[in-house]
Amino acid sequence: MPEFRSDTNVPVIYGATEHVGRSRLVPGVRVRRYTEDAPGGCLDVITPCCPRIARLRGDWRHGHHLVLCTKHALAYDVYLIDENDGGFGALFVVRDEQPVLARRRTGGWLAAQHPGDDRVSGPEDGARGWTGHE
Ligand SMILES: [Zn+2]
Repeated sequence: MPEFRSDTNVPVIYGATEHVGRSRLVPGVRVRRYTEDAPGGCLDVITPCCPRIARLRGDWRHGHHLVLCTKHALAYDVYLIDENDGGFGALFVVRDEQPVLARRRTGGWLAAQHPGDDRVSGPEDGARGWTGHE
């Protein structure tokens, strides 16, 4: 069972196997999750909001990591906990930020800007929505 803060009755930490509904992932809530070694010395961690995986690279044993779920626009600080058995656990802390996710350009004057940008991937991203503003 999660701990409860007496002042708000909000659970502040969930265990590694607990399902946590999206409505409970509010800033400050902490969720433990398992990790798994990944190729190249990386470490995979499963996000609390959905089954997506964040792959931590570099010196992931130290400090903490900013992880963003691009499906749910939730940002986490992730701390790693040495389990002293050769493995690591992950502690996700929901951040206060509410990121706004960028999406594909479709239609409209703004979407037609920078038409020479070769990162635009298809005809639907081009000048179809051009309205003649200059
Ligand atoms: Zn998610």
